[in-house]
Amino acid sequence: MISKNILLTCESSCIVCICQNIVIKFLYINKTVADNDGQRKGVNVMNRRFKRFGTGLALTIGLMFLSALSPPAVSASSTVINKVNTSSKVVALTFDDCYSSANVNAILSILQANGIKATFFIVGDAAANNPSIVRAIDNAGMEIGNHSYTHASYTSLSYSSLVNDLARCDNVISSITGESTRPLFRPPGGAYNSSVLSALGDQGYSRTIMWNIDTNDWRGYSASYIYSSVVNNISPGSIVLMHALSTAPNTKYALQDIIDTLSSWGYSFTTVSGLLAGSSGSYSGGSSGSYSSSGSASGSTIRLGSTGTAVRELQQALVNKGYSLSVDGAFGPMTQNAVISFQRSVGITADGVVGPVTWSKLGTSSGSVSSGSSSSTSYPGLLKIGSSGSSVRTLQQALANKGYSLSVDGVFGPITQSAVKSFQSSQGVSVDGIVGPVTWGRLF
Ligand SMILES: [Zn+2]
Repeated sequence: MISKNILLTCESSCIVCICQNIVIKFLYINKTVADNDGQRKGVNVMNRRFKRFGTGLALTIGLMFLSALSPPAVSASSTVINKVNTSSKVVALTFDDCYSSANVNAILSILQANGIKATFFIVGDAAANNPSIVRAIDNAGMEIGNHSYTHASYTSLSYSSLVNDLARCDNVISSITGESTRPLFRPPGGAYNSSVLSALGDQGYSRTIMWNIDTNDWRGYSASYIYSSVVNNISPGSIVLMHALSTAPNTKYALQDIIDTLSSWGYSFTTVSGLLAGSSGSYSGGSSGSYSSSGSASGSTIRLGSTGTAVRELQQALVNKGYSLSVDGAFGPMTQNAVISFQRSVGITADGVVGPVTWSKLGTSSGSVSSGSSSSTSYPGLLKIGSSGSSVRTLQQALANKGYSLSVDGVFGPITQSAVKSFQSSQGVSVDGIVGPVTWGRLF
């Protein structure tokens, strides 16, 4: 049996994700061929699946008939939520995909040990392959949302394929938990547009749950990177994106530290629904703030799936900064990777979405951020924890300019060290918290 754990999935859907979908389709085709050949094993697998999900399939077919007979009733489009507007220090941790039972179990036991409820956006395919994962999440009292059946980008699906995919995921999960995943949906790859939102609304998914903090944990980043990305960006009402995937092995190691630090700052944790319930209906979606946004509200916000002049402009700006990609006006995975890499290099939230902050960083007179060119600020010698003086002040100011929150007091303490480590991690240089010539060169 091929383990799904080796398959990669991610929010910021990249080439890897597209490959995964191809692999899943390929596996499915192979299985079907095996069945036609009368191979017993294959047939048994399919039979068991059909039995288990027979009800779900019937429902799906029924729904498809209904939607074919009558045009979908006009319902409100799904509301995009990146974070909730609240002054209470409450945040929601979310865990996506859930292909890795080892990671799901590790995450669950940490959450339970701390008495924390969180939200899991499960891919239907993962649930079908390993129902015990869903059972464990449900038994732990966690909230479950719909994250599609195949992790296909919904912006590339027809209305009927989208409806079918949504229902397949919901049927699998509800057959295990006894509860529908409505109204919570998280788009694979974070990809949506107005047609997707309208279809989601039609299907009872009134809430499209994005995030304002992306840990990028699925890229295999270290626990300290994941930790810093959360604690450096936290604010009341935040929604934190993490994954329970084998490609995100360090999430479980960052989790307890995240909980400890945020708790010590007075934060408490709840599910997405809990967060929404406490919000009296005030959400940040669309173009709010510096985070992911919908694109329709603010004309300049573009993301995976966007096309047109603004995308062309973005691509040209990235090419000017040395990224290699084609200027074709289509925001695909290559463009997204370049954006994420650029965002990381300038120390802003690396979510692959180009909003006002990323635009302004791209627009600032060229060169100030790209690699260590003319060192206008000369290297003062090794700086590390315990150092003090004006060069520490210069260092702190540079970190603050890059979005790290620390006080510019000329004393290299633990907060400065953690900012340095986080910056080093973002630059792919060795993460030791010591500012030598390499780190200095990246900063100035
Ligand atoms: Zn995902």
